Amino acid sequence: MSALILIVEDEAAIHDLLAYNLEAEGFRTRVVESGEEVHPAIHDEMPDLVLLDWMLPGLSGIEVCRMLRARPETQALPVIMLTARGEEAERVRGLATGADDYIVKPFSVPEVMARIRSLLRRMKPEAVSDTLARGDIILDRVKKRVSRGVRDIVLSPTEFRLLEYLMQSPGRVFSRAQLLDRVWGDTKDIDERTVDVHVGRLRKSLSRGREPEPIRTVRGSGYAFDDRYGKSN
Ligand code: CA
Repeated sequence: MSALILIVEDEAAIHDLLAYNLEAEGFRTRVVESGEEVHPAIHDEMPDLVLLDWMLPGLSGIEVCRMLRARPETQALPVIMLTARGEEAERVRGLATGADDYIVKPFSVPEVMARIRSLLRRMKPEAVSDTLARGDIILDRVKKRVSRGVRDIVLSPTEFRLLEYLMQSPGRVFSRAQLLDRVWGDTKDIDERTVDVHVGRLRKSLSRGREPEPIRTVRGSGYAFDDRYGKSN
């Protein structure tokens, strides 16, 4: 499951260009064309980074950025502001409202990609790293391999994505509906019990005998990768 970039840009030519190139680099993207759509999009799925145009119809990029910084759940969300204003004073104003970086239009695509990667590496290293490691469990996104201690763990593609998704946000509880949506994608004909079946198989593959259980079942809510896992053992 690769990092999700939320693109907030009203000009189709620009958001298409960004989305196309980001997807070619392995990111997932979501595009909204106004500031008013940002909150619902974030509520739907928390992005790893927001590319935010300054000049938007309705709420401006600056206002959206302020709004993100005011909410505890998005206070630390990486934000890169896109703008046609290259003046130093504007740059300072953009950063003062809480943007983490600032790109002036017209931009070069490789520059945007480099800035996104560098900001993610700095603020959300788990979103761009090739491997995720929690305790003795190591998931290699490039080789699509999982190991626990010295043991290789063989998982189906779905179980791999499920583990990757949970490991990316240790401690965070995901409902069955959220997991279906993000791990399975097309969920029209899939029952939520499918999630239980796959979590069951994943657990069976991960743990043998008395090995500690890394995945928590949160009654009435869903599943989480235990954020305490690997810290005491
Ligand atoms: Ca614009």
